[in-house]
Amino acid sequence: MRKFTAEKLVVASHNQGKLEEIARLMQPFGISTVSAGELGFDEPEETEDNFIGNARIKAHYAAEKSGLPALADDSGIEIDALNGAPGVYTADWAETPNGRDFTMAMTKTWKKLEEVNAAHPRTARFCCTLVLAWPDGHFEVFEGKIDGKIVWPMQGEQGHGYDPIFQPNGFDITFGKMDRWKKNEISHRADAFKKLVKGCFN
Ligand code: IMP
Repeated sequence: MRKFTAEKLVVASHNQGKLEEIARLMQPFGISTVSAGELGFDEPEETEDNFIGNARIKAHYAAEKSGLPALADDSGIEIDALNGAPGVYTADWAETPNGRDFTMAMTKTWKKLEEVNAAHPRTARFCCTLVLAWPDGHFEVFEGKIDGKIVWPMQGEQGHGYDPIFQPNGFDITFGKMDRWKKNEISHRADAFKKLVKGCFN
């Protein structure tokens, strides 16, 4: 596996919530990061139907444009009673003509579970795929997940996206109510990140 030896890393995301989490995860390694947005890059279209494919698109695009290694995250929530939906389309469920609306997306999610009369607990998992890509086209893939259940009503103001309706196994609060440091210890992103560190940062 290729080691990361550069001094700077591009984080190939425009999602503020993800950027904050990744910046915190990177802190102990003293690697300076810059986001694709700060470099003025646009967002490439995510045309694949799986997390690895879309993370690769984002990471390669930023690595080629910047000439630096780039890290991309593609993630989402898989709900068992909805046959794994929204999955790779998690962000799409929040799209409106005026930008993303996660209250709407979470309401839609709960409605769909009610429509199929899903049994409780409504099991689900957050999945995260990280791709680290180099300007020469080499890349490494790391996958993480955390299991839990979908709860209603929405609870908590912390975090981002679907955090207010996801309760991880072993906890009686949602990610939305969880301290950010705690979420960053146990999340799907943290799980993938630990594998990235082991493979490329040591
Ligand atoms: P994408 O990876 O940019 O396609 O978007 C993934 C979507 O999954 C995000 O927009 C969020 O809605 C959701 N998501 C991913 N990770 C998390 C998380 O840690 N908490 C809440 N929602 C998340």
